[in-house]
Amino acid sequence: MIRVRFAPSPTGMFHVGGARSALYNWALAERSGGRFVLRIEDTDAARNRPEWTEGIISALAFLGISGDNPVFEGPYFQSAYEAQHREAAAKLAADGRAYYCTCTRDDVKARTGSEHQGYDGFCRMRGLTEGAMRFRTPDDGVTVVQDLVRGTVEFPNEAMEDFVIARGDGSPLFVLANVVDDIEMRITHVVRAEEHLSNTPKQQQLWAALGVTPPVWAHVPVIVNEKRQKLSKRRDKVALESYREEGYLPEAMVNYLMLLGWGPGDDREIMPWSEMMPLFRLEDVNPSPAFFDEKKLRAFNGEYIRALPLPEFVRRCQAFLDPAWDLEVFGRVAELAQTRVAVLSEVKANVDFLFLGEPVFDQASWDKAMKAHADDILAGYAERLETVSFDTESLKTALDEVGAAHGLKLGKAQAPVRVAITGRTVGLPLFESIEVLGRERALTRLRAARE
Ligand code: GLU
Repeated sequence: MIRVRFAPSPTGMFHVGGARSALYNWALAERSGGRFVLRIEDTDAARNRPEWTEGIISALAFLGISGDNPVFEGPYFQSAYEAQHREAAAKLAADGRAYYCTCTRDDVKARTGSEHQGYDGFCRMRGLTEGAMRFRTPDDGVTVVQDLVRGTVEFPNEAMEDFVIARGDGSPLFVLANVVDDIEMRITHVVRAEEHLSNTPKQQQLWAALGVTPPVWAHVPVIVNEKRQKLSKRRDKVALESYREEGYLPEAMVNYLMLLGWGPGDDREIMPWSEMMPLFRLEDVNPSPAFFDEKKLRAFNGEYIRALPLPEFVRRCQAFLDPAWDLEVFGRVAELAQTRVAVLSEVKANVDFLFLGEPVFDQASWDKAMKAHADDILAGYAERLETVSFDTESLKTALDEVGAAHGLKLGKAQAPVRVAITGRTVGLPLFESIEVLGRERALTRLRAARE
């Protein structure tokens, strides 16, 4: 049975790159009837915070990765397994695969004459019984990593120093704890970010030294911004939560994230999880950097929004609207909003004119629309609105005529009316908006705008 894991460290906001790795693991597990293990690597007490852990779990659930699906196992917490990590270190020492070392950085520098030289193996033969523990790496030959994404990657052992696996106080380092947990959890495939490729030869050595066949490795490509820079939390919008708050739909996020380095092999891009998941193969992941194109993600999201059945769209908008607003009233314009927004957070500004006592006052819009002719148009249209039949066609014809009387095309005549009614220069189709708003409120707004 394929057993994969997602092993985030709770040291910050959950990143879109982490989400992509999680999805690849999830796809592999679900497709093969395997298991996806969530392991929170929480051993760095100084940098971990419980809210980051909660953030990871809720972000994964947003993407559909949760215990609701029997493929999911966990979460396990790495800190709970320290005894096993220590035991593994002790075993490695007992087997002569690791040794204690008391050298300081300065000692090594003094002997090798360089800051950058790896450890020189000084303590290998000293038979110490305390200190940091180092793994004894082979002096020659190569460690060959077979990576399903990157192919065969060779690491000369000569360049691999005897690396530290446990500190002087016995506490294990990431490189060891990660392997011991993977072994204990019977992980068959390690699918993770490319930045861990450099740990892989060391970890492969550890697997073998602990007497277990190493897993299948797959290092998924880095994600870059439009300047081809690796996405960074300082520079780029990387938190999955930010996208969620903006009103990206989980199905659009899942779809888009899956395509960061992988494709179904034809030209299709918009594809639901149920169709994508069975096609996913690690062998088809492209090793070159994947461009996170927010514009494209927005376009995907717009498509997913438009594909929602109307009642479902209304339901999903609820969290993005004022809780005091009547959803039934919103329902009257929901369909118009659905065709216009790319993210759910844009809905509110499109429909607030219906709920507010007065339209939003947006100075720039007023300056733009309330030109010389505006007063005549507003006055003329108000007069017509008193008696015109209140349907979109008649509302439109009336404005068309008022505009024509002042030598204006409909588009020009619409601008001041739209701002008077909604407060803004852009928004839902004007005549539908007026119709829904109703005669009295529309008239009040046209008159107020003239004052
Ligand atoms: N805890 C590591 C990280 O968040 C994951 C390492 C791994 O997937 O092996 O980068």
